[in-house]
Amino acid sequence: METLKSVIRDIPDFPKEGIIFKDITPLLSNPDSFKKVIDTLRDRYKDKGIDQVVGVEARGFIFASALAYALGCGLVMVRKPGKLPYKTYQKTYSLEYGEDSIEVHQDAFGKNQKIVILDDVLATGGTLTACVELVSKNFEVDLVEVGFLIELDFLNGRQKLGDIPIYSMMHF
Ligand code: AMP
Repeated sequence: METLKSVIRDIPDFPKEGIIFKDITPLLSNPDSFKKVIDTLRDRYKDKGIDQVVGVEARGFIFASALAYALGCGLVMVRKPGKLPYKTYQKTYSLEYGEDSIEVHQDAFGKNQKIVILDDVLATGGTLTACVELVSKNFEVDLVEVGFLIELDFLNGRQKLGDIPIYSMMHF
């Protein structure tokens, strides 16, 4: 895990002052690291009977799609507003300043499907909390876990997510 942590690059003051951005591009361009991440996720979920891996736009798509392929299951995209072409359910949530929304197709899941939601970074937890609410309000699914590559412990995003099972591969 220390090897994986070493290929995450800190970019200070991006996208705005005071934020230390966790840049995953060095991890993605290193074949051993990217493979290690997907193999670790595959080993974690391979015996859980997962039907759909849910990826959150945009960096969540990278890991969710590779994991769905590795598990031989489906991929569902949770997207920013106006990107999905079919009928959608929507969830609006508060940001530090203003608000944002996410959407999912109304036919994204079958009844009682087992799902795992993936994103790259757990920061304040706002995005993933909205995603969990979007899915659990509109579908009868079994949310097995939410998974992250990186958890920023000092932001306490885990607390916001309540009692939902959370897995983070790396902690900073
Ligand atoms: P959150 O505050 O948990 O809602 O974070 C929202 C999204 O912003 C996450 O899905 C991350 O992709 C991204 N994000 C937030 N903080 C960082 C950070 N320090 N480095 C990289 N990405 C971040």
